Amino acid sequence: MTPSRHPSQAVLAEYASGALRSPFATVVAAHLEYCPGCRGDVARLEAVGFTLLGELPPTAMAVGRLAQAMAALDGPSPPSQAQAPTAERVEFGPEQVAPGMGVRRAPDGDNGELLYLLRLPAGRQLLLHGHQGVEFTTVLAGAYRDGDEVYAAGDFCELDSSVDHQPQVVSGRDCICVIASEKPMRMDTPLGRSIQDLTGI
Ligand SMILES: [Zn+2]
Repeated sequence: MTPSRHPSQAVLAEYASGALRSPFATVVAAHLEYCPGCRGDVARLEAVGFTLLGELPPTAMAVGRLAQAMAALDGPSPPSQAQAPTAERVEFGPEQVAPGMGVRRAPDGDNGELLYLLRLPAGRQLLLHGHQGVEFTTVLAGAYRDGDEVYAAGDFCELDSSVDHQPQVVSGRDCICVIASEKPMRMDTPLGRSIQDLTGI
């Protein structure tokens, strides 16, 4: 199914020009995997850049960036060899404050940006939280509801620090997202902060 929520043209232009910081580019690249429409837009934007700047052929640029993105998600841990990012799951310790929740982080970006996979079980709702700066999300599997909007596989979401929200998984299966953010979430409760201490997000 084709995604219904896409990056803005401004974001796609930044992506195509190579100006988008790498963790954010990874999340856009994940959306492009699902979205022929945005792939077409990026190819056109890259072709313009190629014409203007005489840079690498557009296709080579796109393929290189995606390979980079997937390598970033492989990350240094866990020790087992490269698996599909969506299949990975990080277990919490014996004190499970959030049963079934999984977080897998890639190395931080150059400016401390976070890039991680988040897995939440069916029906789970995140604690109310805010953001510190921009956050990009692409859904890889399952679906979640945020207010009146539902985001399903391939859908892209951009938020900024003005948004406080409490997304809930609405699919009958786990929801897995790849997320880039400038800084960890803003948690206002002790429980929220203790989950944050465990997960680093
Ligand atoms: Zn799209």
